[in-house]
Amino acid sequence: MNPIYLDHAATTPVSPGALKTMISLMRENYGNPSAVYETGRQARRAVENARRQTAAAIGAKPSEIFFTSGGTESDNWALRGVMHALRHKGKHLITTALEHHAVLNTCAELEKEGFSVTYLCPDANGMIRAGQLAQALTEDTVLVSVMTANNEIGTIEPVADLAETAHHAGALFHTDAVQAVGSIPVDVGSSGVDLLSMSAHKFYGPKGIGALYIRKGTKIEPLLAGGRQEMGLRGGTENVPAIAGMGQALEEATEHLEMNMMKTRTLRDRLETQILAGLDNARMNGCSACRLPGHSSLTFGGIDGEALLLRLDLAGIAASAGSACTAGSLESSHVLRAIGLTETEARGTLRLTVGHDNTREEMDAAAEMVISLVKELRRMSGQLQS
Ligand code: PLP
Repeated sequence: MNPIYLDHAATTPVSPGALKTMISLMRENYGNPSAVYETGRQARRAVENARRQTAAAIGAKPSEIFFTSGGTESDNWALRGVMHALRHKGKHLITTALEHHAVLNTCAELEKEGFSVTYLCPDANGMIRAGQLAQALTEDTVLVSVMTANNEIGTIEPVADLAETAHHAGALFHTDAVQAVGSIPVDVGSSGVDLLSMSAHKFYGPKGIGALYIRKGTKIEPLLAGGRQEMGLRGGTENVPAIAGMGQALEEATEHLEMNMMKTRTLRDRLETQILAGLDNARMNGCSACRLPGHSSLTFGGIDGEALLLRLDLAGIAASAGSACTAGSLESSHVLRAIGLTETEARGTLRLTVGHDNTREEMDAAAEMVISLVKELRRMSGQLQS
């Protein structure tokens, strides 16, 4: 069987268009964008073009887009930058138990500095409600950070309602949209968020590049001390090929968004329906009506997800047992625990994330393999117990 890649939430391949753009900026227009001569000016034009492409994709102004090294840096910067800039105003931050470690570990660092953090708990579908947020807001709350869509279960949060609730109490609103941008419509105008994190390698762009959207007028301190790049807020020579590759990939993703969403959702449903029909004691996690089109998080009773992953790998299928960033650690997923799964259920969970480059044949082959491996693992554990 040919290898089947079902881990698009972990990362995606670079699109041919983005790759072409990047190669020309590495080989020909390789100048430093701060330089005055022609190859430098070419590089500057490439950066500013990517800023326009990125801004257009999320309904922002180009001057509100700041390039970073990816989702982790954007999340760190948003939280630390705003809390530090507004420390005279208050010391309270609200986030959720569902966030990526880029947010959770930044919150832990801020707590060590004396800030206080409230972690909202989701319901069983992974949803955070505006009413819950309203109750947690205090006069001391400076910032609220809730992800647009969850990386493990794919649940899409009601970000516009949450942002409105935060604003009503005088707090700013940040969203980690790393899994959402390029996969579903994201618009900072209609959602009203003040800060938004994104990462190119989730939408067929290169790794190690992302952006933070900062609404005009938002007070924020730089994360890094350095040169005057990125309007003096993010020093360091711009990663021109990656920035241009990101702009190109995002433009392509936006142009084909509706079609890709439909294709991905159809493939995901085909895969998921077959697996759930072929196994008893199996269920889907997250919100079936409001989740990312490519995500499928499935819990199988009586198996260990890591053992299933290893066998899938041997069969040429790439998947994940939780978030890629926590893979390898022995802790079960904090997201699955937050939506109420037991330790054993969390360990029996598989994440399959489909991309628009997958095929129907791959879905059928993968479903057949998952069913047969789960049955095999159950037989083995039955034999061990008897
Ligand atoms: N936030 C979310 C929701 C993610 O899924 C990820 C990566 O998986 C990140 C942040 C970190 O992004 P990056 O890998 O670009 O640092």
